[in-house]
Amino acid sequence: MKLGKYSIGVGDRFSHQGKAQLRAIMKANETGLNINPVWNKSNREHIYVNSKPIDTRKEADDAVKALNYKEHYFVDADHINLKTVAPYVEVSDFFTLDVASFIGKESKQEDIDIFIASCDKYMGKLQVPGIEEPLEVSKGILEGIAHNFLAATQQASEIYEYLKKEKGEGNFITEVSMDEVENPQTPLEMLFILKMLANKGVPVQTIAPKFTGRFNKGVDYVGNLDQFAKEFEEDVLVIDFAVKEFGLPEELKLSVHSGSDKFSIYPIIANIINKHDKGLHLKTAGTTWLEEVIGLAVAGGEGLEAAKKIYANSYNRKEELCAPYADVIDIDESKLPSVEEVNGWSGQKYADTLRHIPNHADYNANFRQLIHVAYKVAAEMGKEYTDLLEKYEDIVGECVEENIYERHLKRLFSI
Ligand SMILES: [Zn+2]
Repeated sequence: MKLGKYSIGVGDRFSHQGKAQLRAIMKANETGLNINPVWNKSNREHIYVNSKPIDTRKEADDAVKALNYKEHYFVDADHINLKTVAPYVEVSDFFTLDVASFIGKESKQEDIDIFIASCDKYMGKLQVPGIEEPLEVSKGILEGIAHNFLAATQQASEIYEYLKKEKGEGNFITEVSMDEVENPQTPLEMLFILKMLANKGVPVQTIAPKFTGRFNKGVDYVGNLDQFAKEFEEDVLVIDFAVKEFGLPEELKLSVHSGSDKFSIYPIIANIINKHDKGLHLKTAGTTWLEEVIGLAVAGGEGLEAAKKIYANSYNRKEELCAPYADVIDIDESKLPSVEEVNGWSGQKYADTLRHIPNHADYNANFRQLIHVAYKVAAEMGKEYTDLLEKYEDIVGECVEENIYERHLKRLFSI
């Protein structure tokens, strides 16, 4: 099973926007692209919203059928591990093996030595085509990389072997993710992580490193753009080298997690993948939930009331809602409007404050990030919330589609 050159992860908290998401991708594909949609949902998210892996499969299949979409699409068991993977086996065909928690775990010295011996031909100054400066590889450097990553790749191999047994070889896409950690991985580290995966026979098709800079949820990238560009390009070149040298799948490509809304790096990414004729996977999730709230606000009436209720609740439960996301949000509380103020807003004002148009006078990134983590509040509203999504399906769907197509795909694929 092969993932197309371009693919977009469209996560959807409440599984109601599959059609709107697919419309956006099909619209982009009308320009001659072939972007594969991948409906991704993590185990953590299923727990928060009390949904099941089958719901995501159903959403994807229903959307594909309703829109008569004929190309490839996938359902991603996002951020799973050996303990959580079982319920996804039947309904998913894309698995994101999250091995971040195994980074830095000890491996046997014997295994480390075997790995280092397998890298013998790369010792010294390693020239990776396209990267100006040769990479310095020594026994000490490899030892350090092995101490950090060998146990993590071993874990990836164990999850992969389990899936191979359950689903059959070649019947699913394998992604390895290490993005949910504090320190970014360097291109040199990524090269040897790929070597470890190749040694262990894991046919990785997408890899999600932690990139330099902050990938806060739902808002733009924060960091040094030049440094990001250099690292991203070197990652792309390292992958190309790894495919040829280590015999990894030829479609292997980078996966950018928390990829929604990172508008300032999209032109950089577009430029680099075009320059080297490479593929890309980019995951989005919460941005669609935010468009649901925007759509409800614009709809007015009960929709706007619900949007205000969601803000009031999230404002009063800030600490609790933000805690699990402490590393990936940055809210300046002094810039949050009061509940009373928001209760006096029109639907337009609410939507303009929340919608990610960075130069709009009303846009407030703090308000947006707080709503981003507030989907738990909507999940607690249960049917009251999902009934409103159905009542205002047209207007909410338009917001979701416009966001994915106009603000994301157009920038990412230079449409
Ligand atoms: Zn991730």
